[in-house]
Amino acid sequence: MTGSSSWEDLAGLSTPALRTEVPGPAARLVMERDARVTSPSLPRAYPLVPARGAGSMVEDVDGNVFLDFNAGIAVCSTGHAHPTVVEAVKRQADDLLHYSGTDFYLPIYSEVCERLDRITTVGGSARAFLTNSGTEAVEAAIKLARHKTGRQYVVAFLGAFHGRSYGSVSLTASKSLYRATFGPLLPGVIHAPYANAFRPYKPGEEAFSLDGLDYLRDVVFTRLVKPSEVAALVLEPIQGEGGYVVPPAEWIRGLRSLCDEHGILLVADEVQSGMGRTGRMWAMEQFDVVPDIVLAGKGIASGLPLGAMIARSELMTWTTGMHGSTYGGNPLACAAALATFDLVENELAANAEKIGGVLLDGLRSLAATSSLIEEVRGMGLMIGIEFADHDTAAAVEDACFRRGLLVLGAGDSAIRMSPPLVLREDQAEAGLRIFEEALGEAAAA
Ligand code: PLP
Repeated sequence: MTGSSSWEDLAGLSTPALRTEVPGPAARLVMERDARVTSPSLPRAYPLVPARGAGSMVEDVDGNVFLDFNAGIAVCSTGHAHPTVVEAVKRQADDLLHYSGTDFYLPIYSEVCERLDRITTVGGSARAFLTNSGTEAVEAAIKLARHKTGRQYVVAFLGAFHGRSYGSVSLTASKSLYRATFGPLLPGVIHAPYANAFRPYKPGEEAFSLDGLDYLRDVVFTRLVKPSEVAALVLEPIQGEGGYVVPPAEWIRGLRSLCDEHGILLVADEVQSGMGRTGRMWAMEQFDVVPDIVLAGKGIASGLPLGAMIARSELMTWTTGMHGSTYGGNPLACAAALATFDLVENELAANAEKIGGVLLDGLRSLAATSSLIEEVRGMGLMIGIEFADHDTAAAVEDACFRRGLLVLGAGDSAIRMSPPLVLREDQAEAGLRIFEEALGEAAAA
């Protein structure tokens, strides 16, 4: 029986409460049905079968309660079922479920774009195109950048994840599996090392000998393509799927200078790093660099499907009918987004910075005594823990799950923590205790 406690009771917990082994009997039934009918391409990380959530806690179909450091993969920014968000969605559902914002005028669509303009720095006033997902925001940016500049080429970075549709997967370079057998992909995409790492960052390993900016100048722009033919450089300010890798600020500033020098648009893919997660609205603010286009998704509507391409107004030169979407910016997602913006601006970005500090300090203390942890890195509630190899990271992830703490692998050999931004200090401390036990189990194995 699930759902026996109130939202407040569930959200108020700080420690997991497991009633069965995981997965339990009800979860196993769901998994059996699922295995018969769902696409085998879905990469399930471990057998979690959630039934409801409140704040930073999730209850599964067997009534097991987990402490969620995944937030539905950096999506449930305001926590699970935040009452203000739920209320806003219910109110909107009573009024209007859908009308296409592409073909008609939706007041709430423009309101979301106004808010995005207010909270996003792109070097002038901004316009936004709303989508249903991160990948659609990336597609929109590729199209707009090519259209605006009249140039064909796009530069992305090794280790990047930008999505799985044809344009975005052409930029994605975190795993060859995402691209295998689907080619040819979008022509005109060139990859360069992220900062100075020619592959997902591994502490202790020799980095590629060319500095990342030199590689762009001396290899990409000298040997492969004239910079005057490059429309955009697409960058995750902190690599997400690639391992929660934080690059040096000078590298990002160097990219801005290169873009300025050659009239290239700098596109910041903030689908994972944005919406307060690092302690600022957008991670680019942490590096003091202003991009031309910002891409948002995941956390911007607390779990409802919404993405956005936010560009400096003067860049939006495409004309009527050149781009659109039936559902993008649907009223329910917009209502959730407006409530999310308020919560993140007023309190949750600051909470991410504060509680992120507690987690980072705690993890760094653990790293000082655990032989397994190679590095702890991150900003706010976007934290990566690097291990020597994939198997160790997977063993720790599994040991956490069996103890009721939800974390997720990233990169080749890291674990990411991306909890809801409502995470409390008692919950952060509880998570650290469980993580320490999981490290102990993996070390003893
Ligand atoms: N860009 C980044 C940085 C992401 O992390 C993701 C998803 O993980 C995407 C784009 C794609 O977003 P979606 O899965 O909503 O299409």
